[in-house]
Amino acid sequence: MLPLSQTQTPSSSSLVVARTAAQLQAATQGARHLGQTVGFVPTMGALHDGHAALVRAAAASCDCVVVSIFVNPTQFNNTDDLTNYPRTEAADLQTAADAGATIAFVPAVDVIYPDGFATTITPGKIAEPLEGAHRPGHFDGMATVVVRLLGLVQPDVAYFGRKDAQQLAIIQQVVRDLALPVQIVGVDTARDSSGLALSSRNARLSAAEREQALGLSRGLFAARDLAGRGERSARALQEAAAAEFRAAGLTPDYVALVDETTFLAVDLLDRPCILAVAAAAGPVRLIDNIRLNPAACTSEHHGEPPCNA
Ligand code: AMP
Repeated sequence: MLPLSQTQTPSSSSLVVARTAAQLQAATQGARHLGQTVGFVPTMGALHDGHAALVRAAAASCDCVVVSIFVNPTQFNNTDDLTNYPRTEAADLQTAADAGATIAFVPAVDVIYPDGFATTITPGKIAEPLEGAHRPGHFDGMATVVVRLLGLVQPDVAYFGRKDAQQLAIIQQVVRDLALPVQIVGVDTARDSSGLALSSRNARLSAAEREQALGLSRGLFAARDLAGRGERSARALQEAAAAEFRAAGLTPDYVALVDETTFLAVDLLDRPCILAVAAAAGPVRLIDNIRLNPAACTSEHHGEPPCNA
């Protein structure tokens, strides 16, 4: 295993960089022998403050924090998206270290998928709508790599962003179904000051596309405000969001209010739900969502943040 100083990345950090399964196991073994808790943050790199928030959450509760950086080819259904996916390893190692990671696992493709690798995890119905319908094979690839990474890292706790709400719900389902010995923690979506959800893909937006992309959060916040004023009809909430998407010139793949656990569509906001959207700004396809919890969003709140508490 290489100490950080042997990679290009600076600082006095004690981040250990592991590139093989054996290096990873050597790095985590020490922590386990000391009875330390291991937290895990899987990523595809191009780290931003949303990823850093996951690492900070892990570092706040775990002694040892492993961040993986692996652009998983099997979860890309679009070759251009895979080819153009940003890769910024040196900066990522610094970001991970600054946020409190102790180990970076940066495997090559053949470390994750060695010769003879033959298993695919296919999550059930929860993976069919929304992203599942628009990105065939995506969730099989995602679930398979996450289960493989959980097997390699063997964390006590793994952290996932609510930005990818369907992914989080699928991982919770898979971990439950396979009785995997790990606790899954969801971390709130980090946004920039204009409301845009942080995403590695934002780096590919032109100024005009970025402006257009702001329509996503504007629409979600409009729906949240409407729910805060007492609206419970899914159709009305979706339409409030869609009006903002249209105004920004976006044509979403979907705008859907779904149950936050099953991801099945609902007619009424009568339980905690996710309002999810996917749309392309220029060549860059983005997803965003907001959690709407009717128990927290009463008319007294008038659309203030408690609505998605
Ligand atoms: P990715 O590198 O895009 O695969 O994301 C790695 C992890 O970071 C996933 O659990 C994402 O949900 C999470 N993540 C990405 N963007 C954000 C964000 N803006 N806020 C919170 N978590 C995020």
